[in-house]
Amino acid sequence: MTADNRISTVALSEHNNTSNKGEIDQMTEELNPFKMAQAQFDEVAAQLDLPKAVRSILRWPLREFRFQIPVRMDDGSIEVFFGFRVQHNDAQGPCKGGLRFAGNETLDTVRALAMWMTWKCAVADIPLGGGKGGVIVDPATLSEGEQERLCRGYVGQIWKNIGPRTDVPAPDVGTNAQMMGWMMDEYSKLKGEYVPGVITGKPLGGGGSAGRTAATGFGVVVTIRETLKHLGIESQTCTASIQGFGNVAQYAAINFIEMLGGKVLCVSCWDRCDCCAYTYSKNDGVDPYFLQGITDPYGSIDKEAAAKAGYEIENGNAWLSKEVDVLIPAATEGIIKGDTVHKIHPGVKILAEAANGPTTPGADEVLEKSSIFVIPDFLCNAGGVTCSYFEGVQNDMNFYWSEAEVNEKLTQKMTNAFHGVLQMALERQVYTRNAAYMVAIDSVVKAMRLRGWV
Ligand code: NAD
Repeated sequence: MTADNRISTVALSEHNNTSNKGEIDQMTEELNPFKMAQAQFDEVAAQLDLPKAVRSILRWPLREFRFQIPVRMDDGSIEVFFGFRVQHNDAQGPCKGGLRFAGNETLDTVRALAMWMTWKCAVADIPLGGGKGGVIVDPATLSEGEQERLCRGYVGQIWKNIGPRTDVPAPDVGTNAQMMGWMMDEYSKLKGEYVPGVITGKPLGGGGSAGRTAATGFGVVVTIRETLKHLGIESQTCTASIQGFGNVAQYAAINFIEMLGGKVLCVSCWDRCDCCAYTYSKNDGVDPYFLQGITDPYGSIDKEAAAKAGYEIENGNAWLSKEVDVLIPAATEGIIKGDTVHKIHPGVKILAEAANGPTTPGADEVLEKSSIFVIPDFLCNAGGVTCSYFEGVQNDMNFYWSEAEVNEKLTQKMTNAFHGVLQMALERQVYTRNAAYMVAIDSVVKAMRLRGWV
């Protein structure tokens, strides 16, 4: 696929057309995350009988930016990258959402992620809207200097359309705290004043918040803990299998062990040398701290070091069929599909969607009828944006909280969010994903009405 093809795969002429279900099933299984996000929204919009104007506003982003970023490479040449920023909805407050650096980034992926951010902020009850950004680039192919120039170039193109009261980016796949620090610095230079609140996920000591790096994985485990309580399952005997070993997966693994007392039987990751994924297992449980020590900054585990330490190495799909209590997809979107959902072991009790959009509507049809409790993505992984919101609040106050204080507030927010969705699912007897959509859509539509948009 060329960069041009990646820019958009959904024709704008489809704007405002409510989707045909059969067509969507086929398209989502071919993995267009934006089609998937729209299909999820359409299903709940129909159940809620939302007015046409409300549906029109919410099934497309309010604003989209696509730009070129020329970057001086170390060898003196100029390379041009494509960047995106999508602002889905800001009825509840400034847009908020991560920035991905990924070789397979598309405008449609960014649109889907921006839309999910709107629901995520609403479900977590934080006064922010949904945004997302991306650059088509594999950051592992760039030197540190090239990464810095790309980050500064990204801000150079979009700085007039982001800001603490407009749209606040944060790290996501392929980006990290240092990159956020460079971006905040570039924005502050362009504005002529120190503006730490323009970006969250910054390094500690550079305007960052204690607890932010671990926040998403931490929040994932809070939602698992509440699910276990609801299902009456003892957490200390629980086992988990995780897809991914990047930021989210690492802290999900650590907290699954430390907060719940459970065991993580395997993790998986993408191996950039072999261009395929592997699953790393230990029957008595993996040691996430050891694995962190042999993992590169992009979440790839050193295969030889793992084998030496006695880890069993299987194919990249093996994590999905493990006999565990909790499955945690924490890597990428669209991996549990109509044709892979049947590989899930019958003993699995909880699917905790730490990644964004790991499950397609085709797989949802199967899961909805199964006994598996699904913690939907924009609830499960809302810990990251919640802590980012805390970071913005601390930046505004210029007063910083301790890690314990951050984690206490985070636990409270995630617990409340979980129970709001659970209560909706029980009251309306609906699938947990639809319940989360109902909570989120209610809140966003209310804000739109209060502002006189609809
Ligand atoms: P990351 O780049 O730090 O890690 C991604 C991990 O997934 C790496 O270990 C990579 O090797 C692995 N991976 C990629 N493709 C794979 C495959 N096919 N099979 C197995 N492993 C594969 O990214 P992250 O920040 O941990 O984000 C992971 C997911 O969580 C993404 O969907 C992201 O949007 C979502 N998320 C992240 C945050 C955050 O705060 N970082 C917040 C909310 C949601």
